[in-house]
Parts: sequence; C-alpha cells; structure tokens
Amino acid sequence: MSYDTQPKGSHFIDGAYVEDTAGTPIEVIYPATGEVIATVHAATDAVIEQALDSARRAQAEWAATSPRERGRVLTRAAQILRERNREMSELETRDTGKPLQETLVADATSGADALEYFGGIAAGLTGEHIPLGEDWAYTVREPLGVCVGIGAWNYPTQIACWKAGPALACGNAMVFKPSETTPLCTLKVAEILVEAGLPAGLFNVVQGAGPVGAALTTDPRVAKVSLTGSVPTGRKVYSAAADSLKHVTMELGGKSPLIVFDDASLEDALGGAIMANFYSSGQICTNGTRVFVQKGLRERFVQRMAERMKGAVIGDPLDEATNFGPLVSARQMEIVEGYLKIAQDEGARCVTGGERIDRPGYWMTPALFDGVTDDMTMAKEEIFGPVLSVLEFDDEDEVVERANTTTFGLAAGVFTRDISRAHRVIGRLEAGTCFINSYNDAPVEMPFGGVKMSGVGRENAKAAIEHYSQVKSVYVRMGAVEAPF
Ligand code: NAD
Repeated sequence: MSYDTQPKGSHFIDGAYVEDTAGTPIEVIYPATGEVIATVHAATDAVIEQALDSARRAQAEWAATSPRERGRVLTRAAQILRERNREMSELETRDTGKPLQETLVADATSGADALEYFGGIAAGLTGEHIPLGEDWAYTVREPLGVCVGIGAWNYPTQIACWKAGPALACGNAMVFKPSETTPLCTLKVAEILVEAGLPAGLFNVVQGAGPVGAALTTDPRVAKVSLTGSVPTGRKVYSAAADSLKHVTMELGGKSPLIVFDDASLEDALGGAIMANFYSSGQICTNGTRVFVQKGLRERFVQRMAERMKGAVIGDPLDEATNFGPLVSARQMEIVEGYLKIAQDEGARCVTGGERIDRPGYWMTPALFDGVTDDMTMAKEEIFGPVLSVLEFDDEDEVVERANTTTFGLAAGVFTRDISRAHRVIGRLEAGTCFINSYNDAPVEMPFGGVKMSGVGRENAKAAIEHYSQVKSVYVRMGAVEAPF
C-alpha cells in the first residue's frame, strides 16, 4: 500500500478526518496496474449520523453569514486548488487511471472554475421587489438546508466541486458521498475548503457504496439530493427522495448523437468525434457515441478516423505523453467487452481496436465500428468505454428523427459549415447540452444537464442557483386590512 495515497481517515467530518474500521473495507485500485493504493471503510450508521448532524449544525450559521464572505471562502479554495493542481491531478490519475495529460487540465482545474464562479456570484444572489400599487412584495432567495451529493467515478474532483460550489454559495451545507471506486480526491477537496476558511461541518465526505447513498437520500434532515450516476441508480435515488419530497438534481447517462454532414470540415469532425468517444477512455456521460455520418462522407470519415486513432499513445498514465489510459475497473472492462461481443454478434463491423492489452490493469485499445444500425444494442445502450459507432444517414429529417429515437437526452452535436442548418438541427434535437462544430466542452459558465431519462435539473452557470435555493415571497400591505367581518 502506497503511503502517499492512503488518506489519514476514510471520512472527513466537521473539519477533520474520521475513521471507523467497523465499516466494510473498500480497496482503492490504481487501474493502470491493478495495485491496491489505499483502503477506506464504508460509513457506518454512526459515521452517517455524525456527518448529517454536524452539517445541520453548521448550516444555520453559514446561512446567516454574508453571501460576500461565503463567496470569498470559495474563491480562496479555488485558488488553493489551482496551486495544488499537479498534486491533485496525480492523485486523480491514480484514483481513476485517466492520463495525467487529461487530469492536469480537466479535473481540479474544472473544480476550481466552479468554486471561483460560484464564489464570484454569491454576493449577487438577490431577490426581487414587486410593486403592487400601494402594497408591494419582495422575494428572498433562501438556502435549502443540508444537501447530499453523490458522485460517479469518472470525474470525482470535478463532480464534488460542481455540486459544492453552488450549494455552499447559496448557504447550504453538503454531505458528499464519492463513488466507492474513486474515493480519494474528494477528501482533498474537503481539506482545501477548510483551509480556505470554510467553517467545519459544511462540506463533509462519507465513503461507501449504494447503501450509504441510500441512507443519506432517505434521511429526513436532508433537503436535497444531487446525483451524478447511471439512469438505473437515478431512478432509485429519485424515487427514494420523492417519499419526503426532497429537491433533486439528476445528472445521468446518455447515448448522445453526433451528426456529421458531408459539408463539414472532415478533420474538425474527426477531432470532435475523438473527443466525443475516446477522451477519458470513453468514460464520459455526454459522449457522442452514435456518430451519424452523411452517406457521401462516411467512407472517408471511417478511413481517416482509423488513421487518426493510430495517434493514441497508450502507456503509463503518469507520463504526460500518454493520451489514452485504462478503464477504471475490472468490472467496467467486463461490461465493455460484453458489449463488444454483442456488437460483433449483431453484425457491426469492427474496423480497428477493442482488444484487451496484455498488461496488468484494465487496458483495451480504442475501438471503431462501422455499419452500425439503429436496432443494434451498441446504438441503444450506454457502453461507457472507448467504442465509437458510425451510423450512415442520407438527409436532415431522417437523421434528426433517428437521433431522437432514444430514451436518453443528455447531449448532442452537429458538424456542418451551413450555419442555418447547424442551428436548425440543434433546435430539433432532444438534448440538454449541445455542441456546434465542437464536442464535450463544459465551461462552468454554461448550464449542464440532460432531458428525458438523462436527468433533471442543471449544474453550472446561474441555472444551478435555482437548484440549490428556494424563493420566499413576502407580501407587504401598506394600508388597512379589508375583511368580510
Ligand atoms: P452508478 O449509477 O453506478 O453510481 C453512481 C453513484 O451512486 C455512486 O456513488 C454509487 O455508490 C451511488 N449509488 C448506487 N446505488 C445507490 C442508491 N441506491 N442510492 C444512493 N446512491 C447510490 O454510476 P457510476 O458507474 O459510478 O458512473 C457511471 C454513470 O454515471 C454513467 O451512466 C454515466 O453516464 C453517469 N455520469 C453522468 C454524468 C452527468 O453529469 N450526467 C457525469 C458522469 C457520469
């Protein structure tokens, strides 16, 4: 077990590390080698109690703190996170297996952007004055109370900060449960927030799998649950939260279309499709995994894609030259391999890749499939691995209809040089997060989230504020009260 990666305690509660070895042990595995790099314990009932209790106590005082002061703490935390970017990125790489080339620019940095953004707007969160003739009303934006965050394993630092930023800016406390697969970096985020001046108890981290998440979701002290995870988990968490009418944000899975018209810049479309399928070894919720390419361009697209895929540098994720890492776990590798077998059985043509690499850890080469049709499993279900499916189409109406024939609606992209068509097509696609001549950008200034089964609510941007606060309306009568008796 490496000394560096073993946290001082499994949980972070009330400003300090907490351990309770009575909880189920969870081994943290470096996906690039299969080595155990740390062990944490799932939260026991006593730990969950401690986390919720301290969050509730801390929240009342935090809500009474001036929003400017709350913002200042978040801004300071963003700065520390940036200063520690390399250290955080190396830990994230060990936790997730994602290449350092990626974690250096897309994880702690994105988390810092969120803390900075919400720190910046905290002081500007005001209500309204509503004139009503002689009388008037005003609104106050109030925090919800204790919010629970539950994370997926693909972007642990980013997910924690995307939830903590708006929650804390609005005056809430948060109890965060990272994915059991990647428990390490969120503890560092908690440490940094406290170092930046966040009072103890406002951002508590508890470890564990589904049952810990479920215990948090159903606790009556919790006002809101924000989940990033798969659709099946989302359905469970949403319905469990509904019992006590909690607020929810659901950031779930997708099977997003990326549409390439034959007038597109081929190399840009290829670059977009690479970002949409192979970044983070394909383990990104918004991925454009159904790449619809117009008939006249399809053959060249597939041929050039196969060439560009030779540029994947597969190797030690801690070497900054590596741009393609392992899958996160043995389980994820099995899931992806299962889908590849179904794809071959159903008649999709594997152009290149999809082979297991003979080295310790969970490695496979990026896969390109051609001749994929809408009825194939690989065109319908989220694989969450490095698998790009090319589907051919003839015209705009046809592709829009096919692109929308899915229960998911997280993201969508279009590549074309025809500006009117770009906006027209995006306007008709049923998706929450869209891209024109680009793919998978997620700046904090832009709302992020899905429609249909891909989610409820929005993260990032001003839109997130709506999901971490509630409006109190106050009617003010200036004259006498008229009453029937
Ligand atoms: P998952 O659904 O298996 O787990 C997500 C989290 O939910 C984990 O922390 C898990 O412990 C917890 N959980 C499981 N059962 C629970 C229950 N009954 N109650 C409360 N919590 C429970 O997802 P994953 O495998 O960790 O991540 C991959 C999935 O996440 C993919 O489907 C991907 O598309 C999705 N994802 C979505 C976004 C987004 O923002 N839309 C971002 C990243 C990942």
